[in-house]
Amino acid sequence: MASPLTHLAVGFSLFHLARPRFPELTGFWQTLVLLCGALGAAVVVDSDFLLGALHHDLAGFHNQQSHSLCVALIAGIGVGVLGRVLTRSGLRRWITLGVAGALSHVLIDFLTIGRGLQLFWPLTDARFASSVPLFNGLRWSEGIWSASHLVTLANEIPIVAALLWLVHRYAGSHKVDHIGEG
Ligand SMILES: [Zn+2]
Repeated sequence: MASPLTHLAVGFSLFHLARPRFPELTGFWQTLVLLCGALGAAVVVDSDFLLGALHHDLAGFHNQQSHSLCVALIAGIGVGVLGRVLTRSGLRRWITLGVAGALSHVLIDFLTIGRGLQLFWPLTDARFASSVPLFNGLRWSEGIWSASHLVTLANEIPIVAALLWLVHRYAGSHKVDHIGEG
């Protein structure tokens, strides 16, 4: 699995891209809900990590059916509905944000070296992984202080930096008038 750094960077990028599309969310708290919604959507399918930690069995609980396209879609819609309820702004925009975040997570983990994802559960339990991985991935089984995490960071930091730079440039070139309001 890719590290939380990459997933959160993608979530932040989605927030950056979504913000002009939610011009009615101008106050601090509403902007915070939008930020938390985008970050939450990008990591929501890793909620199974908590179950794994609770049962001291990460491999048994983490990256199972939660990382299928089907569950990611449902989880993304759930985040979107929650965002809508909390802010009263457009349901379709919130669901787009939620689903984009959850599916981005599945795509990133698909592109990560590891045991693959049960992408098409419940149709099949088979695992699928990209034949051309982009991310080294995090090996939680090696412990928190493993030197292998440095390799993961060295792999992900340049990719995250490039992503944030691209999104910043894109958002800058598509600035709309209302951004300065809030
Ligand atoms: Zn994951």
